[in-house]
Amino acid sequence: MSIVIEELNYTYMSGGPYETKALADINLTIEDGEFIGLIGHTGSGKSTLVQHLNGLLMPTSGRIMVDGLDLADKKTDRRAVRQKVGLVFQYPENQLFEETVEKDIAFGPKNLGLDQEEIDRRVRDAMRRVALDYDKLHERSVFELSGGQMRRVAIAGVLAMEPKVLVLDEPCAGLDPRGREEIMGLIKALHREAGTTIVMVSHSMDDVASLAERVIVMNHGTVAMDGVPRDVFSRGEELRAMGLDVPQAVELAAKLREKGFDIPQGVYLIEEIKHEIEKILGKGGAAC
Ligand code: ADP
Ligand code: MG
Repeated sequence: MSIVIEELNYTYMSGGPYETKALADINLTIEDGEFIGLIGHTGSGKSTLVQHLNGLLMPTSGRIMVDGLDLADKKTDRRAVRQKVGLVFQYPENQLFEETVEKDIAFGPKNLGLDQEEIDRRVRDAMRRVALDYDKLHERSVFELSGGQMRRVAIAGVLAMEPKVLVLDEPCAGLDPRGREEIMGLIKALHREAGTTIVMVSHSMDDVASLAERVIVMNHGTVAMDGVPRDVFSRGEELRAMGLDVPQAVELAAKLREKGFDIPQGVYLIEEIKHEIEKILGKGGAAC
């Protein structure tokens, strides 16, 4: 299932004094099974773009096709599209509202009119995928949970819709390192095990470097770069000019080159730079 974006433009408060052009002439195709990291400075249009992927926002001009269906076409079943493309907002736990964990996760499937047995199966499966213990937690109030657990309940609610494409807007924002690691782990597993297409907006270049197979860089409402992480992250100067960082490994590689060490171009993963440093230290020379 692919998503095709053609000549997408989006303007907030069109015609008024606060008119803001958020997206300009975006053309993108998201293929089945991809893992895309979407990066860009604050205000570059990432959130606006991802809200178009399931029809939450409609283009000011241009077209979005999901699985061959034009979202602007009145005949297109928007609910069916929302089922195929799940969107996890920024700070999604702010939208939890049911009395129990189970009811919150079951909300979407219930609205689909599924029978109780299927709803139960989906709730259990979604909780397993986000590593929440069903027996311990299903009757608890979401407001008794930790921040990281609340975030996972919110993600489980989207997963219970069994979307083919999962879009996450800064899924780790505001979490401590452990919470972030848990979220990254579950996204990775979802991609690897269930084959879910992932579009992840992130501020962490290291998270994007370690997980994404394709990186899209937004700048002032346009797509500034689109390619494999190795190519995108080798353009450090341009990224910095757009107010972005590079992964730690890229920075370390640059520093070592400055010191005269022969580090190959394109190194961007922690494991790669570790390997290069081990080579410099000599095999067995770093026995600590
Ligand atoms: P990002 O997610 O990359 O930070 P956004 O998509 O939130 O970027 O914002 C893109 C542009 O649209 C920014 O100039 C922002 O101020 C503006 N914008 C975002 N949301 C709204 C809104 N609800 N109303 C008006 N302007 C908005
Ligand atoms: Mg945003």
